[in-house]
Amino acid sequence: MRVAEVPGLPDGVADYFEAEGIEELYPPQGEAVERGVTEGESLVASVPTASGKTLVAQLAMLSAIAEADGDGAAFGGDGTALYIVPLRALAGEKAGEFEAFEQFGLSVGVSTGNYESDGSRLSDNDIVVATSEKVDSLVRNGADWIDDLSCVVADEVHLVDDDHRGPTLEVTLAKLRQRVADLQVVALSATVGNADELADWLDAELVDSDWRPIDLRTGVHYGEAVHYDDGTQAELSVGSGSQTAAVVDDTLQDDGSTLVFVNSRRNAEASARRLADVAKTALTDEERADLREVADEIRAVSDTETSDDLADAVAKGAAFHHAGLAREHRELVEEAFRDRLVKVVSATPTLAAGVNTPSRRVVVRDWQRYDGTAGGMQPLDVLEVHQMFGRAGRPGLDPYGEAVLLANNHDELEELFDRYVYADPEPVRSKLAAEPALRTHVLAAVATGFTTTEEALHEFLGETLYATQTDDPGRLRSVTRDVLAYLDRNGFVEREDGALRATNTGHLVSQLYVDPMSAATIVDGLRDAARANSDSSADADASAGFQTANELRADEELPADASADPSPLGLYHLVSRTPDMYELYLRSGDRETYTELAYEREDDLLGPAPREEAPDWEDWLSALKTAKLLDDWTSELDEDRIAERYDVGPGDIRGKVETAEWLLQAAERLAGELDVDCAASVRAARKRVQYGVREELLDLAGVRDVGRKRARRLHNAGIESRADLRDADKSVVLGAVRGREATAERILENVGHRNPEMGEVDADTETTAAVE
Ligand code: ADP
Repeated sequence: MRVAEVPGLPDGVADYFEAEGIEELYPPQGEAVERGVTEGESLVASVPTASGKTLVAQLAMLSAIAEADGDGAAFGGDGTALYIVPLRALAGEKAGEFEAFEQFGLSVGVSTGNYESDGSRLSDNDIVVATSEKVDSLVRNGADWIDDLSCVVADEVHLVDDDHRGPTLEVTLAKLRQRVADLQVVALSATVGNADELADWLDAELVDSDWRPIDLRTGVHYGEAVHYDDGTQAELSVGSGSQTAAVVDDTLQDDGSTLVFVNSRRNAEASARRLADVAKTALTDEERADLREVADEIRAVSDTETSDDLADAVAKGAAFHHAGLAREHRELVEEAFRDRLVKVVSATPTLAAGVNTPSRRVVVRDWQRYDGTAGGMQPLDVLEVHQMFGRAGRPGLDPYGEAVLLANNHDELEELFDRYVYADPEPVRSKLAAEPALRTHVLAAVATGFTTTEEALHEFLGETLYATQTDDPGRLRSVTRDVLAYLDRNGFVEREDGALRATNTGHLVSQLYVDPMSAATIVDGLRDAARANSDSSADADASAGFQTANELRADEELPADASADPSPLGLYHLVSRTPDMYELYLRSGDRETYTELAYEREDDLLGPAPREEAPDWEDWLSALKTAKLLDDWTSELDEDRIAERYDVGPGDIRGKVETAEWLLQAAERLAGELDVDCAASVRAARKRVQYGVREELLDLAGVRDVGRKRARRLHNAGIESRADLRDADKSVVLGAVRGREATAERILENVGHRNPEMGEVDADTETTAAVE
């Protein structure tokens, strides 16, 4: 089918796609149109990676936003389309793709960042791109424009299978469907074993296809040859290097690029370092010069060891790619790989999920990954490996794509064929019946008034994928009951004769978008600090009457004038103990180090500590490790040193900092709700995390374009506050920014410098960036 023949599209849209080189629809796209995706029908499209799912979504959204107009359709109606992405990092990329539609007078908005808002400004957009967490939060905060949705697209919908994030996507889709009558849902999925079940759940039409725009050969390398799925073999000898190096070299002989999937960030970095020696032999002088420029750009992003390592590899035509990298780094790598400058990228599987980086060959080097809960190395899912396979072959550039696994012996060769080459992907299974997921979503459903009785709650949960799939409907009910009891016990909901109501704290917790268990941990910790405080002041004026903190129950009344002055480390530890902060693993020697620290700083830590032999002691220590990382960050330790000390990437540090900032903000609000007077200490701790500075720099670091390092240099030069900066001598400021004239001027302008020459400006804007 030609794009020009697609029904339901407003004028100009087909011309636009034709100008982009898309004249004829790919067969699965044609099938989607035949099933009515441009005429309001819901659809599940389960097709391989890189087979044009995005176009299906675009056609659906454009026709949904348009209004019927005589014989055809035209833009200008009230409909809004929502595109749900699986990763925050992808929101910008997708919105960038859709911005081309601004030529039709449409506007595109991206919603990321602060969870606690109703996104009212988003309502002006025709297309909104957001993560499922964000959409969930918008619904919780009462965003009205949700009612105007005419089409919602769920990208990578097979991720409903994900333990952590799947339930949010599932519940969000269920809620949107319940709230907006006749909502068109377009769910895009990798090829999965049970696409028909997904379609059943969403009352949608189904396109289930394994068509690809470019041929894919899959095989396993073993010995001196690649053994292909069609029974043929191609000689590929290893020589003195590794199997991976041999495949990369062989691909380069044919002027092709290789994407190597490994199982950890560290392996990605080590692999890139080794493969750089292979890639560099194939570069032309011109490529070498271009790569040097990319390497310089990489170094300019940040002054860290990771940045240097990446730049070194890129200069030789190789790179690594993982979620610990700064976004700018990831983008530079992706672009250089698409431009065929970088010849080989070693990546963790995050790259397979959505980023468009096709490659002649894909090598799945590690098909096992360490899994702490399962206690050792576990094989990857077929679904995941097939998605990596799917990155092989660039339509229009390569004659075919090739995906290769590596076997060490003959048995493994056979195993890999059975396990991945000939195997079908697993079915997608809902993970909703897990307690942490239900805790969050049940509270949200009650707090938003979405469900006001236990029966309505059970009914709503009956509309989820879990309910469609389970053969034990009693289980969801019983877990839901446990969860309601937990929420009741912690004072987040009240139950009476089957009626459900959220308390004020419950409302707040739901709006703050924290796991109720995180909120309960924070509430307990702050109460405890208040009690310990009132104990010590009671001791001081010798008026007996308060029990010691540990003897009190969590729900016991606090004195009316409760106050506390928790230390920053205590607060960092408190928020690091919550399930919303992902753990830093304890490595060898850490147990001793942090046990010692736990005793040393016992008075700073909030709430009763578990006993050393108790099962939760390990968690207590690993939270302390995170707290210490934050403590180092707010003591102005260099990012590089932190990365080294905790064995993490710069992206991880940013992740921790952002999460801590968000949880401390929640703590500040909860303290207000509880009437515990400690908001000032919590706010100071949050600001210190936000800027990564000691207390004395808080004022300065808040000036836009200053940041932690410059604030310290200004301070060293005698400028200690905004007031000082306003009156400062420009030459001093220039010294602190290492002679960067434009930067100095910008900073002075931002602070409203009192220099008649520069003009009086009263801007005193705070920067919102956490990191310099
Ligand atoms: P998926 O989302 O399925 O992984 P994409 O939507 O990213 O795949 O499509 C992969 C590439 O194919 C994109 O570069 C896109 O422009 C191109 N493409 C999609 N549909 C067509 C078509 N009908 N004709 C030509 N190219 C197409």
